Amino acid sequence: MSEIVVVGGGIVGLYTTYCLINESGVSAEKITVLGKHLPGDQSINYTSPWAGGNFSCITPDDNETLSWDKFTYTHLAEIQKKLGGPSCGLDMKPSTEMWGEYPGDKKINSLKGYIEGFQVVPKDELLDGVKFAVRLMTWNFNCPFFLSNFKKYLESLGVTFVRKELTHICQAYLHDTKTVFNCTGLGSFSLSGVKDSKVYPTRGQVVVIKAPHIQENMIRWSQNSATYIIPRPYSNDELVLGGFLQKDNWDGDAHELESADIIKRTTELLPRILDKPLEIIRVAVGLRPSRQGGPRIEAENFEDKLLIHNYGAGGYGYQAGFGMSHKAVSLYIKAKREPKL
Ligand SMILES: Cc1cc2nc3c(=O)[nH]c(=O)nc-3n(C[C@H](O)[C@H](O)[C@H](O)COP(=O)(O)OP(=O)(O)OC[C@H]3O[C@@H](n4cnc5c(N)ncnc54)[C@H](O)[C@@H]3O)c2cc1C
Repeated sequence: MSEIVVVGGGIVGLYTTYCLINESGVSAEKITVLGKHLPGDQSINYTSPWAGGNFSCITPDDNETLSWDKFTYTHLAEIQKKLGGPSCGLDMKPSTEMWGEYPGDKKINSLKGYIEGFQVVPKDELLDGVKFAVRLMTWNFNCPFFLSNFKKYLESLGVTFVRKELTHICQAYLHDTKTVFNCTGLGSFSLSGVKDSKVYPTRGQVVVIKAPHIQENMIRWSQNSATYIIPRPYSNDELVLGGFLQKDNWDGDAHELESADIIKRTTELLPRILDKPLEIIRVAVGLRPSRQGGPRIEAENFEDKLLIHNYGAGGYGYQAGFGMSHKAVSLYIKAKREPKL
């Protein structure tokens, strides 16, 4: 029985499935998650395993995105607990974020309201060229491991996972399906029945090293790039060094010059990285599923069925995706109450 089909086995599809079970009262046995790629896979067309991934100041400061960030940050402990605690690959660690220009009152005041340990760094402690910096406790994901544990948890409740590639969104409606959630990320650019030309990739490259001595996050924001250092919890001491934010770049290959640039920038930002010999584990490339105007979270009638879109999380699917999915599921609940959209 697949009353509801969630297309997409990335973090947004998993958050959506979780919200459906917890917020709409649909029983897990009635949900199928369908995707070309599922947790455990690696592909340039599957963004979620490649994320850093932490909670940072990457999101824009419109009210809605700020509310998704807040929802995610303040509710992640609930998922962490249900998945068995921090060893599921989700833990809190300290972070410092810095800017060449003040990021604006709206963002800072919002974060101040709910982030643990939030404090503005005193001016006399700022690095050269930095105008403003904050310290906070962030959520750190060991992304591939967390995805696999999240899938196992949802399966234990009764959710079915099916590997399948769609060429048209209508193929997601199995014989008894009444509602489809479209969580296909970058796939929404080319999937017939959706083909959203506002979707584009924001390419990133990261260098993953072994660094048990670094247990803090550090990010320096600039106009078109970010230099970031992100420890992965329960990963055998992996530290993610990044990165790039290259708009409209579909290149899935890693480039040596970019890796060298990442290592230069991150070790200048946190020289302590070099207290141990640099041990590179892997270099990875990922394409963030960005969208002009921000994520699309919208319900529409598809023939006599319901189609709810939830894609376009760009560089913040882990940190805002739970809030996005909460909204997508609220559209489902509303449509069930008032069947005519
Ligand atoms: C280098 C890098 C660093 C990042 N760091 C962070 C971070 O620190 N914090 C953060 O919050 N975010 C970060 N992100 C962003 C984050 O990874 C994305 O926002 C998130 O993974 C998007 O998830 P998604 O589920 O929308 O898409 P995806 O993970 O791409 O999942 C899409 C799913 O849809 C399926 N699909 C697509 N098309 C079809 C089709 N036609 N038929 C069947 N299935 C289909 C795919 O197989 C897949 O299962 C980073 C991204 C990159 C690349």
